[in-house]
Amino acid sequence: MTAPVRPAQDMAALADAALILRSGGLVAMPTETVYGLAADAGNARAVARLYAAKGRPRFNPLIAHVADIETAERCGVFCDLSRRLAAAFWPGPLTLVLPRRTDAPVSDLATAGLDTVALRIPDHPAARALLAAFGGPLAAPSANPSGAVSPTTAQHVAEGLGDKIDLILDAGPCRVGVESTVVAIMDGKAVLLRPGGLPRAEIEAITGPLAAAGETAAPAAPGMLKSHYAPRAPLRLNALEPGAGEAYLGFGPGALEGALNLSPGADLAEAAANLFAYLRHLDAGAPRAIAVAPVPEAGLGEAINDRLRRAAAREDA
Ligand code: AMP
Ligand code: MG
Repeated sequence: MTAPVRPAQDMAALADAALILRSGGLVAMPTETVYGLAADAGNARAVARLYAAKGRPRFNPLIAHVADIETAERCGVFCDLSRRLAAAFWPGPLTLVLPRRTDAPVSDLATAGLDTVALRIPDHPAARALLAAFGGPLAAPSANPSGAVSPTTAQHVAEGLGDKIDLILDAGPCRVGVESTVVAIMDGKAVLLRPGGLPRAEIEAITGPLAAAGETAAPAAPGMLKSHYAPRAPLRLNALEPGAGEAYLGFGPGALEGALNLSPGADLAEAAANLFAYLRHLDAGAPRAIAVAPVPEAGLGEAINDRLRRAAAREDA
């Protein structure tokens, strides 16, 4: 049986979604970044179902989504710096990895047994309404089979996971289009674990230069599999034109005429919002490879290039 798709604005659908979550079920919820697959973060059986539905390696910890700062403070230990980041960017596409409170209402399975917890207040009316109706943290990784391209529409969710979950809430395409930026606060210092929908420069305006994940965070950010965002076709990056049998994904005004273009006006926010849907679209044509135009590394370009490099790496873990 395939999961019903219901409008996220429908109050009855939201109430049903909260009931499903309370009884350990799985609901796909729209957020401003990508569609998340939500489960009760405090219910280890529900979280186990979530890992199974995604086919996700168990060592990969999940982000706990919360409705408000009060719930976040019940899960993680905030310091002055994390409080300032939360005040500046929540609700929004920033995930904070903080020391886990021993009495956090989050199962060990959701945090993969780590003594840290990843927290975010999403900036989407449907996600916030669902979190408020549910009344606790929801574990919600992207709503796609593990290793596949993240979903930015309800249709993408239905294609990948429709037969494995209980309900899909539809609020149209996601505004941001790439996952949240993940920042760990360790000993009062901010470390960038994953570039994402909140550009580095906005965070650094508050934290100063972010430390890189490489040096400190290898054990702290498990599950950053290289192949995490891969379409089936191989990717060729920084391609100025397609080769024989290749599909082309352009960027900016100079790109190949007639080819799909992430943003003809070279707008990185538009490119991020289109990225996953366009990769899916080209992949569906089963090309020999997808050749992708160079994308500048500035602002949201850091997250776009990170996802493209992971997709190109195709390393299975
Ligand atoms: P996703 O849910 O697919 O958006 O991925 C969540 C990201 O957050 C992954 O890269 C995880 O490795 C990272 N993450 C989640 N929880 C933690 C944690 N406690 N410590 C470090 N990284 C985390
Ligand atoms: Mg994902």
